[in-house]
Amino acid sequence: MPSFSGQHTLITSRPGHVEVIAGCMYSGKTEELIRRIRRTKYAKQSSVVFKHEWDKRYDAELVVSHLQNSIQAIPVGGAETIYSMSQDAQVVGIDEAQFFGMDLVDVCRRLAGEGKRVILAGLDKDWEGKAFGPMPFLLAEAEFIHKVYAVCVCCGADATRSQRIVNSREQVLVGERSAYEARCRACWTPVPIFAGKEEMDEG
Ligand code: ADP
Ligand code: MG
Ligand code: ZN
Repeated sequence: MPSFSGQHTLITSRPGHVEVIAGCMYSGKTEELIRRIRRTKYAKQSSVVFKHEWDKRYDAELVVSHLQNSIQAIPVGGAETIYSMSQDAQVVGIDEAQFFGMDLVDVCRRLAGEGKRVILAGLDKDWEGKAFGPMPFLLAEAEFIHKVYAVCVCCGADATRSQRIVNSREQVLVGERSAYEARCRACWTPVPIFAGKEEMDEG
């Protein structure tokens, strides 16, 4: 009987697959990516981790979680660089996958086709609640999907959304703690909230 949690053993004839860790801000995506990469080191597998060069939070050459856990990462501007720099690795980690272009999907497909384990972490939704960049296509490509949840700062429920709390409507506003908070569906709103007020609709 298949379990509803969806976790089961994947029967494969050759190595190579895609894993996606998805959720809102503060849900522990980066922590989970770091945990999986650390485990590959015990298995003596070669790994390489990338992050988007837009993410300059904390450190340019580390992937750092909100708990200040960190691993080495290479900042890159595009997916093709990930492909060319992954040739010697058995395991490829990618943080902030939502910032890359659609070509990341093909790059992951090629890497997995060459027998590599590809582990991606990214925001599934932007602050407006819309699917973020290549994430829906990466979720479709993946053999394994792990959805992680933060805690809603309003009510304590599981949070699935990132509430923007500064007055900006740009899709990419790389998130320091002061720009977003984690909220559940009921407490979240698709307009920025700042200084306790919802943004006024000028239309
Ligand atoms: P992500 O990469 O998904 O943004 P991180 O892995 O960097 O998340 O950080 C997760 C950590 O953030 C948690 O372990 C916790 O210590 C901290 N944190 C801060 N705010 C929240 C929140 N509202 N809900 C859950 N964790 C939070
Ligand atoms: Mg993160
Ligand atoms: Zn809530």
